[in-house]
Amino acid sequence: MALSGIDPDKPINAISKAERKGLLGLLKNLRFSIEGLEGFDQAIVTAGGVSVKEVNPSTMASKLVKNLYFAGEILDVDALTGGYNIQIALSTGYLAGKNI
Ligand SMILES: Cc1cc2nc3c(=O)[nH]c(=O)nc-3n(C[C@H](O)[C@H](O)[C@H](O)COP(=O)(O)OP(=O)(O)OC[C@H]3O[C@@H](n4cnc5c(N)ncnc54)[C@H](O)[C@@H]3O)c2cc1C
Repeated sequence: MALSGIDPDKPINAISKAERKGLLGLLKNLRFSIEGLEGFDQAIVTAGGVSVKEVNPSTMASKLVKNLYFAGEILDVDALTGGYNIQIALSTGYLAGKNI
């Protein structure tokens, strides 16, 4: 409401056509600058970890250390939010568990 310039206390039936059009334009073309991250406490997924080059993708066994298996966040795999990270954790966990 602050960006639209419309008085937030204005009754909805008092909003003019021009104000409605302005609000619509604002919603469809909202621009903002990212100034920082929320920090580790708010992090959703971590980048970095055990390189996938060091892991057998068929079994999740370490190529370097015998009888060591990896799954999920410990691996250097990260994806966009939307279930992909949970899928990575579940799929690699299943494989590691099966092969252990
Ligand atoms: C707020 C938030 C929102 C998210 N939203 C999404 C999303 O929308 N979509 C998506 O795909 N991913 C999302 N993720 C990421 C996803 O949840 C993780 O990638 C996934 O849960 C990783 O699974 P994991 O089993 O590897 O690790 P974790 O789920 O972190 O499990 C590790 C477990 O090990 C336990 N543990 C730690 N140390 C020890 C120890 N020394 N001894 C015994 N147990 C220990 C912990 O208590 C924990 O239960 C989100 C993450 C966060 C934090």
